[in-house]
Amino acid sequence: MKVAVIGAGISGVTTAYMLAARGCQVTLIDRADTVAEETSHANGSVVGGTQIEPWATPGLQWQLLKWIGREDAPLLVRWQQLPRIAGWGARFLRNCGHRQFMRNLQTSGRLTRHSLKVFAQLRSDGAVAAQDYALNTHGALKLYQSVAAFEQACTEAETIAALGFDARPVDPDECVAREPGLAPVAATLAGGVLYVDEEIGNCRAFARRLAERLEAQGAELKLRSAVERIERDGDRVTSLGTAEGPIHADAYVVAAASYSAPLLATAGIRAPVIPIKGVTITVPAEPWADAVQGAVMDHSRLFGLIRIGGDLRASGSAEITGYDTRPSAARCDAIIRNVLELFPDFLRCLDTAEQRRWAGVRGNSPDGPPILGATRLRNLFLNIGHGPQGWSTSCGCADLVADCVTGATPAIDMDGLTLARFGG
Ligand SMILES: Cc1cc2nc3c(=O)[nH]c(=O)nc-3n(C[C@H](O)[C@H](O)[C@H](O)COP(=O)(O)OP(=O)(O)OC[C@H]3O[C@@H](n4cnc5c(N)ncnc54)[C@H](O)[C@@H]3O)c2cc1C
Repeated sequence: MKVAVIGAGISGVTTAYMLAARGCQVTLIDRADTVAEETSHANGSVVGGTQIEPWATPGLQWQLLKWIGREDAPLLVRWQQLPRIAGWGARFLRNCGHRQFMRNLQTSGRLTRHSLKVFAQLRSDGAVAAQDYALNTHGALKLYQSVAAFEQACTEAETIAALGFDARPVDPDECVAREPGLAPVAATLAGGVLYVDEEIGNCRAFARRLAERLEAQGAELKLRSAVERIERDGDRVTSLGTAEGPIHADAYVVAAASYSAPLLATAGIRAPVIPIKGVTITVPAEPWADAVQGAVMDHSRLFGLIRIGGDLRASGSAEITGYDTRPSAARCDAIIRNVLELFPDFLRCLDTAEQRRWAGVRGNSPDGPPILGATRLRNLFLNIGHGPQGWSTSCGCADLVADCVTGATPAIDMDGLTLARFGG
């Protein structure tokens, strides 16, 4: 079977790899010069249970009203975007109910557990090695400064643990034992939740390694090729329109992140995915003797500081501002200020000549889980809507989508993961 996959970020590359492993003849298409040039380029790098809570959280709807237009808001919605995201926003707000939140959390948990298994399988098969993508298994620590927030986190950790993730509450001494860089601020901590099995790895390096394998196995990698249209005849896709001419295949997978929505619209498919911008700042860890070893996430200041090989990456921010992927100085500076409040010694790493500032747009679905598998066009499939979790769930999503394309039974229940939940 010939399959064309649109988008060579982590979602498209892993999907192409899984399809090739099932005997398909794959063409992987991207408009960029290289693999993983967009959202998969310099993301937060964390893989596992720390990211499974959907952003549509009980109570968030009231917070959002207060945050609209505020430059320092954790989730900044720009006024001019409101008309463009109205339909998506209404769905997002409907998912802030407790019952919907729990359902979406369980779906994300089920998918992420499956994905971690597929990650491990790819390593044991030799498709990628730990050193190919700077795999770091030191674990992740979520920190809480107020007793009330920590108590609530302990209850939430029980829920996360019940979903199959090793999430344990730890006291400030254990936080410092795990991350000695916290010693100067130990007295300000109420506690933390330790995610022992959390993995950290360079998403772009992983995608590139897998793409090299794919090419070596005979798959076609078509770079600098933007898909402008999806052509259809009745309930089937007939070709992809590009400036270089049409691309024909038996089946087509769209894995173009937030750009999938306008592309799918050319074939009459409505997919509720919008771009939400985030930023990262990457610096060398070496100047700071007690630099973070794994991943530290600060609950009140809403940033992550992550060790990736010899680098530290500060990650955060959520801004609804369309497809603008320039890292704004204000948002980057705000993250750096927050990191310095917790880790004053981070200052040693902040030589501006060595700072790499980056922004990418997550493609968020309104309820949290991604949108995978079949559409009402019989040979068109989706791997989109991953939001803040697309690296964590990449291998699992790819495995499920490859099964959908080839007519095999997916390894986990697809309920809550397909376009059907939005009536598509
Ligand atoms: C600041 C930040 C931190 C994050 N941290 C984490 C984290 O710690 N853990 C985690 O699991 N996830 C994290 N994420 C989310 C994760 O990075 C994304 O979910 C993931 O990279 C999405 O991968 P993708 O392949 O779907 O999209 P992309 O990497 O954006 O790939 C889509 C590809 O499609 C191509 N494309 C688009 N339109 C077309 C077209 N018309 N024709 C041809 N090609 C096209 C693009 O060029 C691009 O290469 C983070 C995201 C951000 C922004």
